Amino acid sequence: MSYQFLPMPDSEGFFGEYGGQVIPPELKAVMDDIDAAYETVRQSTTFQNELNELYADYVGRPSPIFYARRLSEELGGARIFLKREDLNHTGAHKINHCLGEALLAKHMGKTKVLAETGAGQHGVALATACALVGIECEIHMGQIDIEKEHPNVTKMKILGCKLVPVTRGTRTLKDAVDSAFEAYLKDPVNFFYAIGSVVGPHPFPKMVRDFQSIVGREAREQFIAKQQKLPDIVMACVGGGSNAIGLFTAFLPDEDVQMIGVEPSGKGLNTSEHAATLTLGSKGAIHGFKCYNLQDEAGNPLPVYSIASGLDYPGVGPQHCYLKDIGRVQYVTISDKECVDAFMTLSRMEGIIPALESAHAVAHAMKIAKALPAEKTILVNLSGRGDKDADFVAAYLNL
Ligand SMILES: *Cc1c(COP(=O)(O)O)cnc(C)c1O
Repeated sequence: MSYQFLPMPDSEGFFGEYGGQVIPPELKAVMDDIDAAYETVRQSTTFQNELNELYADYVGRPSPIFYARRLSEELGGARIFLKREDLNHTGAHKINHCLGEALLAKHMGKTKVLAETGAGQHGVALATACALVGIECEIHMGQIDIEKEHPNVTKMKILGCKLVPVTRGTRTLKDAVDSAFEAYLKDPVNFFYAIGSVVGPHPFPKMVRDFQSIVGREAREQFIAKQQKLPDIVMACVGGGSNAIGLFTAFLPDEDVQMIGVEPSGKGLNTSEHAATLTLGSKGAIHGFKCYNLQDEAGNPLPVYSIASGLDYPGVGPQHCYLKDIGRVQYVTISDKECVDAFMTLSRMEGIIPALESAHAVAHAMKIAKALPAEKTILVNLSGRGDKDADFVAAYLNL
């Protein structure tokens, strides 16, 4: 298969037929303004130096690559390596794009950064970045999620962001999105809506990808330095798709590197409790862009589910849709049960407690490693740490 390494997206924000700006004209002007500002800072050495210095001294980059020796030897096949995004400040890859977005908002002279959060991971990463950069931050969160996610709620309060409880409708993520977006629309010229993954209208899928691409650039160099060759397979979990595209981007031109994105099949692809958007979705639009969607016949988003709350999104990044269609990336699924098995196995064989999101990627690596020879290598993006999930898993397994 040959992959044309085209500059993507095009000037309208399309990756093939996906992406773009499915938004009213007033917002299009605001998004185009953000795109122009982003393109300027992207080429500004001052901005890039500031961001790179924060990646190094604040986030703790580069994150290491770790050879999971005990796990690999136990499985008896391909060798599994982990890109340790779990070691970043705040414990996941999200800080990479939150810092980029907060810096851009500040640079543009915006007065406030807004966002929604589901389980609170995006909220905490963004509140952290805003505290550092020195810009006001407002996070909308469903009342039910506020009750469920106490540690993250507390952290956001400590970090000084304004937390807005959403008590309407489902009182979860879906209504938090609507509520945050309404607040944003009160003054989109002065406010900045910080999207939490490679989704939303152009330029967000491009911008968030670029901020996350540090993961793959580091990983490619580190892997070659360690193994004198490229990995045979790179793998990551896919919710909106930011940690996956962050790892994949550097390897896209390497035709011999196979890429796999792992979606949650939750309680089963034949149930309604999954979030396997690329596997079972159909083409449509959601939150201002075109992508594969889990939607009903009228085009409304279906309720989605995953044991990993960071993966339960009914849409997916437009570049992933394109990469699926051209066959450059293969998308597979892992169930709740397989995910929890991998969570426990990695914890007990390597002393690394992964986020339940990341455990989906680990689970698929474990699944295919056995059948591969020992000279093959698999590089998994360990997108985050599992402290946030420890109590839940302990209760789930009656530990
Ligand atoms: C939010 C989150 C994800 C899912 O988001 P993507 O945009 O798909 O990467 C994955 N892993 C962790 C640890 C997360 O916090």
